Amino acid sequence: MKALRLLAILSLLCLNSACSREEAVFHDRFFAFGTLIEVTLYGVDQERAIQASDLIEQEFHKRHADWHAWEPGALSTTNEQLARLEPFSADPAVLPLLVEANRLSRLAQGLFNPTIGKLIALWGFHANELPVGTLPDAQAIKSLVEQAPSVADVTIEGDRVSNRNPAVAYDLGAFAKGYAIDRAIDRLRELGIDNAIVNAGGDLRGIGRHGERPWRIGIRHPRQPGVLASVELDGDDSVFTSGDYERYFEVDGKRYHHIIDPRTGYPADTATSVTVIHTDAAVADAAATALFVAGPDAWVAIARRMGIRYVMLIDTDGVIHMNPAMQARIHFEPGMQTEIRVSEPLS
Ligand code: ADP
Ligand code: MG
Repeated sequence: MKALRLLAILSLLCLNSACSREEAVFHDRFFAFGTLIEVTLYGVDQERAIQASDLIEQEFHKRHADWHAWEPGALSTTNEQLARLEPFSADPAVLPLLVEANRLSRLAQGLFNPTIGKLIALWGFHANELPVGTLPDAQAIKSLVEQAPSVADVTIEGDRVSNRNPAVAYDLGAFAKGYAIDRAIDRLRELGIDNAIVNAGGDLRGIGRHGERPWRIGIRHPRQPGVLASVELDGDDSVFTSGDYERYFEVDGKRYHHIIDPRTGYPADTATSVTVIHTDAAVADAAATALFVAGPDAWVAIARRMGIRYVMLIDTDGVIHMNPAMQARIHFEPGMQTEIRVSEPLS
């Protein structure tokens, strides 16, 4: 990854003499959370930019290890403690995430449910290689759904955590990337950097501007290569998309993807992608997952509860659902606009 950054710096040097517009942009890339993280800084001198990016990279690696859903680390230890059904003092590396994930899960009426780790594991998503040609046992899914793990089973007072449901196991996959991006942006601001994007595999938060113009970012098409639409960021915005194309396997021609409806135990099947814009990346991340599960009939109600102001949902017929404020912000690529249904305003 360092080689990539070197390339970016070299092209920056070339551009310094040839091109005045791009000289102020610094790019760095590294892998964390199973995805490519890209840090883009505007108007920061090279030495400070490298220092800042290195620090962010280290912090991402630490968090990835702490919050990993299936490898040993702070979260897996926490899950072992929860399984004992006795109160314990939670590791400070995970405690604030549990608090925030629980809050968001309550707002999402459990459609974002960070306690369904056992279901996610049963589906085979707690592995780098996805299952080939096999589905989980239907009885095992039914049994976990009936045990109904939820954040209501977990009580947190200060750092003391207790759990009353043996089926509870945290999986922060729908939320931790957003939370980590928020912390990275906090760190950049502490370092006096006010114009930046931190992008994790297409989910991102951007602050400030790209010089004279706002940051402009693309939203991926769920069924075709390339970009469906773009939006301009407004000073401090996160743009998060949950899609059925991110992680999936197929059995007998049917797609089984990684966003599970906690009410049925099966992959949520009424949307192909949901994009949310919100200041806070952790909230945007959790909301994109919750609204994906909510689908075309329930997304408006859940978005309102979660305080979300911009949503685009693409249903399984390819119909694009949006609220009016989102429609006013989004620019579709030529030929990409299909049937659009505009909802009532969200606020
Ligand atoms: P991505 O990480 O691909 O952007 P999401 O943010 O939607 O996608 O997160 C999906 C991940 O979240 C799954 O891999 C799983 O670990 C976890 N997950 C799946 N369904 C739910 C759900 N209903 N609530 C909370 N977490 C979920
Ligand atoms: Mg999410």
